Amino acid sequence: MKKKIYLSLLFSFLIIIITSLLIVKNAFNNIKTNFSKKYYNNTIKTYNFLLQKEKTFLKSIAEYLATSPATKKAYLTNNKQYIIDAFLPLHQSLYKSRLIDEMHFFKTPVKNFVAFSNLKLQEINLTNARRDILWVTTSLKPSVHFYICRQYPGLRATYPVIYNYHIYGSVSIGSNLINFKNMFDKLNMHAAIYLNDKILKNSLCPEKYSIYKKYPLYKGYRVIGDVYKINFNNKYETKKENIYVIIPVIDFFHQKAAYIVVKKNFSDTLNIIKKNALKKIISEILFYFFVFGVFFILFRYIYSRFNELQNILNLIKEKKFEQLSPKIKEKDEFDTFKNNLIDVAKDLSLYLNLLSNELQYYSKKAYIDELTSVYNRNFLQEKAEEIMLKYKLSKKPMAIIMFDIDDFKKINDTYGHDIGDLVLTELTKAVKTILRKEDIFIRYGGEEFLIILPDTGFKDAIKIAEKIKKHIENMKITLPDKKINITISLGVSELTQKDVSLFDAIKRADMKLYQAKNSGKNRVVY
Ligand code: GH3
Ligand code: MG
Ligand code: MG
Repeated sequence: MKKKIYLSLLFSFLIIIITSLLIVKNAFNNIKTNFSKKYYNNTIKTYNFLLQKEKTFLKSIAEYLATSPATKKAYLTNNKQYIIDAFLPLHQSLYKSRLIDEMHFFKTPVKNFVAFSNLKLQEINLTNARRDILWVTTSLKPSVHFYICRQYPGLRATYPVIYNYHIYGSVSIGSNLINFKNMFDKLNMHAAIYLNDKILKNSLCPEKYSIYKKYPLYKGYRVIGDVYKINFNNKYETKKENIYVIIPVIDFFHQKAAYIVVKKNFSDTLNIIKKNALKKIISEILFYFFVFGVFFILFRYIYSRFNELQNILNLIKEKKFEQLSPKIKEKDEFDTFKNNLIDVAKDLSLYLNLLSNELQYYSKKAYIDELTSVYNRNFLQEKAEEIMLKYKLSKKPMAIIMFDIDDFKKINDTYGHDIGDLVLTELTKAVKTILRKEDIFIRYGGEEFLIILPDTGFKDAIKIAEKIKKHIENMKITLPDKKINITISLGVSELTQKDVSLFDAIKRADMKLYQAKNSGKNRVVY
């Protein structure tokens, strides 16, 4: 019981701890997922903002250049020197500050006019290298697209050069895609650019491709920055304490020409959450320890009180009433209960004593002859079977003497009934002096007696009978005015294995007694 209670306490304690750990773990995962989602959304917002800003910036320069008078003059006079003179300082300052990588003027449809990155470049057709330019000069609309050309992968804004409803060419301003990595870095966000190696190889001119070839290759992408092992199919990934946001970069041809991967380490945030969770669990454990401590002390107290009651019950069970403690001063319900139990036990003890005394008294009365204090006939009826069984089991001989006072009627008639009684008591006292402890002496009838002699053979029984006869014959019974003699007649028999009942042998002894009476009394017949 004690063990069971302690075990169930321990068990519930473990269950509580395990469930709180599971809840914390679950909450932890939820936080991780929520945090990842939020971080993904924020990063996409940041990226869109940067992209928009970059697009606007490039577009405004392209528009400014395409609509400026120097450009008009250069295109109308077919003299690129006007453009170089007007915009070389602007290009240099923008290029040096890494804001742009290229400032390129085209003639329709896609013929090189002025390329600030390579002023010596001839008027060659670049249609295959710049499909976006062809689109602008055909549609007459400005465009901003990612595009990997012969020089570098970048974001390009192109603006058509139109005067008097006539298209002369276009201006394209580009910035390298790597700029996005720099922009993210400035915001303290770790970004890596993954460039499609196949497109790079097909688009860049060989000497430019050789630069990109030096970057590590991951799943067919050249990685500028740290190589994060991500899956391009995911929008974002959470690995251990890092979140990777994977932003596809769609180019002019609607192909995923690159990915920008932004990594965020959120171990700091996780550690704060972990610390808080740990604090909560520890406080929970301490609380349960406290509750269990209180419960334990209370239980031990109740258990010890129960033990006191149990001890009393044990004493009652073993009838050791004398060892019962006295009543105590009552302080609580337990004490009252204990005192009540002691009261009940004492009452029970008194009652049991009374019962056993009465039992003793009545059992004595039932089996003992009141006048002579030897066993009565009831006793013989009750014990005959037991005596017979003992005889059969012991394999030892057993004998019976039956005797009767000779002419007792005369004594009664002569001296009165009281003297008759006196004779009976004197006779039994005298016979008892001859008998052993184990011999059973029974008053069988009025002045007729039976002696059962265990472990006594027939010959010994005859000797004992003779001894008794002689002893009584010689005994003088003192009356108030004189002394008298009495005689007895005795019949002896022995038990045999054939006997079914003790009364078989008694009957034989009775018959011998009858013969003794008939053959002159005061004798032993066997
Ligand atoms: P026998 O020699 O043939 O035995 O003759 P008896 O006179 O002894 O035998 P009987 O059976 O004629 O008489 C027995 C008497 O014993 C009769 C009865 O009144 C008397 N008696 C029986 N029980 C008691 C008793 O408890 N007290 C007294 N005083 N007399 C008793
Ligand atoms: Mg008689
Ligand atoms: Mg008689």
